Amino acid sequence: MDIYRVKPGTQVDLGKWDPDDKAMFDKGKSEGEKAMEKLNRRLEALQELLFAEGKRKVLIVLQAMDTGGKDGVIRWVFDRVNPQGVKVASFKAPTTEELAHDYLWRIHKHTPGKGEMVIFNRSHYEDILVVRVHNLVPPAVWGRRYAHINDFERMLAEEGTTILKFFLHISKDEQKERLQARLDEPEKRWKFNVGDLGERALWDDYMRAYETVLGETSTEWAPWYIVPSNRKWYRNLVISDVLVETLEGFKMQYPKPADNLDEVVIE
Ligand code: ATP
Ligand code: MG
Repeated sequence: MDIYRVKPGTQVDLGKWDPDDKAMFDKGKSEGEKAMEKLNRRLEALQELLFAEGKRKVLIVLQAMDTGGKDGVIRWVFDRVNPQGVKVASFKAPTTEELAHDYLWRIHKHTPGKGEMVIFNRSHYEDILVVRVHNLVPPAVWGRRYAHINDFERMLAEEGTTILKFFLHISKDEQKERLQARLDEPEKRWKFNVGDLGERALWDDYMRAYETVLGETSTEWAPWYIVPSNRKWYRNLVISDVLVETLEGFKMQYPKPADNLDEVVIE
């Protein structure tokens, strides 16, 4: 899946990244779903090992335009993991208390501890995305944040956190269809947020803001992946594959059991 990884220092032009791409799996959706089932089982075992070993920390950052599929990834990629070792942190517009602090204050306390996997549903990247698009702070203020974020993530990485960042890339047409489905299907209506239309009108501004984020903050220690996400099954497959490969690369071991267990007799 390295083809979706943004090399550090790349100038990203999202127009050149096809949200319909499915180059890494050409056998179609139903075979894709079978492959997904296998990856889900592998992730289940690896997450158990991560928790049992209790040494490493894994942070997964999800960013996308509205309807991009963050909720779907959380639902399907993590289908089989044990909730005891996995947390989701969703970042909405900051509260008054959060705004009274620096923008990383609310983020840092949700980062994973040893043996944990944490999924960020939106993240500190909103502070150089929505904040930039809506001019919520002056350019001189948000302009410094790319460097802050790279430093913050490097600190986390050096202190033992593996960071994987996924941008779920959908087309503007695909967003239209998904928003329309939320209007048309009664069980999806609760998800329809009129405010999303205002953000949709700023699509091009968001794409420019994402291009800068992806170009400036994909690092050796915290890479971005641009995930083709018009097809949900393919999106899930790509993310699961990156996760499984990464966790397998850890070569984790179950902790050594106590000595002489063979001699233990349970009365
Ligand atoms: P859903 O799929 O349920 O719509 P969501 O992530 O879009 O999920 P919402 O409550 O609709 O959740 O939106 C959260 C909003 O909070 C987004 O519009 C996002 O841009 C905004 N937000 C997040 N972080 C910040 C921030 N640091 N500053 C300003 N706005 C933020
Ligand atoms: Mg929303």
